[in-house]
Amino acid sequence: MTVVSDVKATVLELRREVCALHEQLTRYQLVVWTAGNVSARVPGHDLLVIKPSGVSYDELTPDNMVVCDLDGRVVEGEHAPSSDTEAQAYVYRELPHVGGVVHTHSTYATAWAARGEPVPCVLTMGADEFGGDIPVGPFAIIGDDSIGRGIVETIRGSRSPAVLMQNHGVFTVGPTAKAAVKAAVMCEDVARTVHIARQLGTPLPIAQDQIDSLHARYQNVYGQR
Ligand SMILES: [Zn+2]
Repeated sequence: MTVVSDVKATVLELRREVCALHEQLTRYQLVVWTAGNVSARVPGHDLLVIKPSGVSYDELTPDNMVVCDLDGRVVEGEHAPSSDTEAQAYVYRELPHVGGVVHTHSTYATAWAARGEPVPCVLTMGADEFGGDIPVGPFAIIGDDSIGRGIVETIRGSRSPAVLMQNHGVFTVGPTAKAAVKAAVMCEDVARTVHIARQLGTPLPIAQDQIDSLHARYQNVYGQR
């Protein structure tokens, strides 16, 4: 089998996977209209697969996903790629361990972003998934690589696979696109519960050594082996 046909098979599979993962964004009510997207790196190649811009979630098909290079230029596809492609391409260029990126404006997490306030680690689930507070990244607007830079700088300084970009919304990363989607779902759930806890009183902190051991256990031991 040639290298070229290898890439074709991988891209075909990722078109299906990335398309299907968008159903999870609507299922968990993380998005409205067309404002949110999933992308995946094509392993071993400087390529990514991402949602087309402005196409509603119920019209997404594997065929209308867009393949771009890691400078955000379209390599294969009929549609323009998501307007977040440049930011996500920057993340793939800078963080080689990242295989998937998700962006949403999910309500509760974005409410924390609007205040520029990290979601404190006051739930075991927060310790498990995020290893501490869910951090806030800088205010940055679309049009250059400032969103990408803000995501990468914030994620590099944290264990969290999620970053709340100030006044904007959530970006999550993972070793796979599915893992990044999971982080986006968990981020919204934690943000919502901590928001409600705050309304009722003062959430109790979790000691740092407990956060560390919960995070280590969840990342290394939890789940099916
Ligand atoms: Zn956005």
